[in-house]
Amino acid sequence: MTHANGDAAIEQFLNAVESANNKLGKKDRRPVLIHGQTIRQDQVNRLKELGIFPSLFPMHTFYWGDWHVNSVLGHPRADFISPTQAVRKQGLMFSTHHDAPVALPDALRVLDATVNRTTRTDQVLGPEQRVSVYTALQAMTTWPAYQHFEESSKGQLKQGMQADLIILDKNPLKIKPVELHNLQVLETISRGETVYSKN
Ligand SMILES: [Zn+2]
Repeated sequence: MTHANGDAAIEQFLNAVESANNKLGKKDRRPVLIHGQTIRQDQVNRLKELGIFPSLFPMHTFYWGDWHVNSVLGHPRADFISPTQAVRKQGLMFSTHHDAPVALPDALRVLDATVNRTTRTDQVLGPEQRVSVYTALQAMTTWPAYQHFEESSKGQLKQGMQADLIILDKNPLKIKPVELHNLQVLETISRGETVYSKN
């Protein structure tokens, strides 16, 4: 698992995996690119061939999106940070994360950022990179289980599988995407026991 955020660092990681694959043969190793914030389209194109699993950090759009537009990257590069839809177009799974303590460990805000990509000043950064709520939920459940070779025991609510879970006040698939940030956790169940209850 490699933390690579700038496109030069990402290039170095892609080349390292490529040379390892050439030397040792391709196998199902699932090397993980952590963050990949400024990955370029030509680098997204290489992920699948190299077997690299992208773990993206969509909350970058909220916390630093305006700053990236105004001072660091500008358009159009700022629009392409954490390019969730671009990796989907390559047919890839991805996971999302919040990088606590860099950002607050709030899974519902990760969900909101992945779907809406709203900055602090209420701009939508890179609207073409938004994904559906269902895709964003897969990126928090089934796909990260795959990332860790745990897809046969985690990630889905199925008999025989392990699951910690939360109960929300509304169905995220049925509310308007802009309302996602208002979702409330009613109950948290961990290892079969209620560890949080709102009331
Ligand atoms: Zn980090």
